[in-house]
Amino acid sequence: MVRVLVVEDDETIGGLLRTGLRSHGYEVLWHRTAKETLRDARSDVFDLVLLDLGLPDLDGVEVCRQLRQLQPGAVIVMLTARDEEMDVVVGLEAGADDYLTKPIRLTELRARLRAHLRRVAPVETAVAPTHTLGALRVDTGSRTVALDGHPIELRAREFDLLARLAAEPGVAISRTALMADVWGQSWFGQTKTLDVHVAALRRKLGEATLSAGGSQPVPEIVTLRGHGFRFEVGEPAAGTAP
Ligand code: CA
Repeated sequence: MVRVLVVEDDETIGGLLRTGLRSHGYEVLWHRTAKETLRDARSDVFDLVLLDLGLPDLDGVEVCRQLRQLQPGAVIVMLTARDEEMDVVVGLEAGADDYLTKPIRLTELRARLRAHLRRVAPVETAVAPTHTLGALRVDTGSRTVALDGHPIELRAREFDLLARLAAEPGVAISRTALMADVWGQSWFGQTKTLDVHVAALRRKLGEATLSAGGSQPVPEIVTLRGHGFRFEVGEPAAGTAP
């Protein structure tokens, strides 16, 4: 049974989420404060956390950051009010996988959760290819990434996104296709999630490039305005080519 932790201080929303998810077979634990949440997160394991960003006792983004450390395997979905747009970006950077804007519609929530949980479940594939692009090596079997042999630490969804891009270097991939492939077919809207993950990948690739200092070209994620992204392997840096 899928274990869901609902963190929501609003009695109406929390009650709705608990009833709605239980009726669809989820095991639900509901907490109203950050204190209770973090206490349980230290001793218990959850598949999924629905986290209200506006909690009475601690900033939601800070709760998210601590939850990510305590529950590395859980999918964290933030529940946010419309005036918390900035918090969403910070929350995604702090470790959340996705967000939903209130008012929460149960049909949308369940569709999104199904998509997320499919990603979490181990997938048996006959072929787990390795993509080598210049200095970058993406191994989808071991889910590891290395630049010039130096490992790069990625979060689960960052890895999925990089692997998707690396599977088709030089090809323009639309935002819709990326979202469907990485976050699931029933995932829609919420484009900020994709942008924050692309930004994180660029930052991590950039940092790894600086510290690796090799002569092989390093691929980069090129933005295609109004369409999506393309993964490109550039030329070797001037003066370092053989
Ligand atoms: Ca609240």
